[in-house]
Amino acid sequence: MTALLELKDVRAAYGRIEVLHGADLVVPESSVVALLGPNGAGKTTTLKVASGQLVPTSGCVHLAGRHVNGASPDALARLGVCTIPEGRGIFPNLTVRENLRMVTYAGADLEQVEERAYRTFPRLGERRTQVAGTLSGGEQQMLAMARGLAVDPTLLFLDELSMGLAPLIVGELYEIVGEIARNGVSILVVEQFARTVLGVADYAAI
Ligand code: ATP
Repeated sequence: MTALLELKDVRAAYGRIEVLHGADLVVPESSVVALLGPNGAGKTTTLKVASGQLVPTSGCVHLAGRHVNGASPDALARLGVCTIPEGRGIFPNLTVRENLRMVTYAGADLEQVEERAYRTFPRLGERRTQVAGTLSGGEQQMLAMARGLAVDPTLLFLDELSMGLAPLIVGELYEIVGEIARNGVSILVVEQFARTVLGVADYAAI
């Protein structure tokens, strides 16, 4: 089992308040790992450390065997890390298509990005000219995921996919998460609702 991401004895703090007190976590290659825990347990903070948004106060972060403590989020993005944050991180006043175009400035081809997005999420294709802020919550989550996939990540971080969504939509989204994983993307998914995510997860960490 090769670890794509490994956190070893990671401590992280906001100012003087320590939130992670020596966390260990492994995401093996080509697997889905669910990170579970109650509100305020430090799940999002763990993702922030793993994606370079927060520098750990001690411990190690390894990505594909490289020591990446202190690497910036954009450097990690170039190594294939993609984060879909809680709250989705889309541009609400742009259309679906314009949101997809925003990911193409790093070099991706818009036609290919759109084709892949609409193949994975047919509903986005039907709504390509709609302003993203007026999409349903589930559709907004689809758009956020489509934007993430457009950069061909090797490691995808999903934070609270199910936030505020109906169970039926959440089930649909997790089916797609499973499909993304089968195509070789490793996924670390933060979720408060264990039952939902365990259907697609290979491993779980508490
Ligand atoms: P949730 O499910 O509510 O998102 P979580 O497990 O993701 O919870 P975190 O968001 O990582 O938890 O928060 C862990 C702790 O760190 C909480 O006590 C929270 O109040 C605190 N915290 C989070 N962000 C900050 C910040 N920017 N400044 C200070 N404290 C913070």
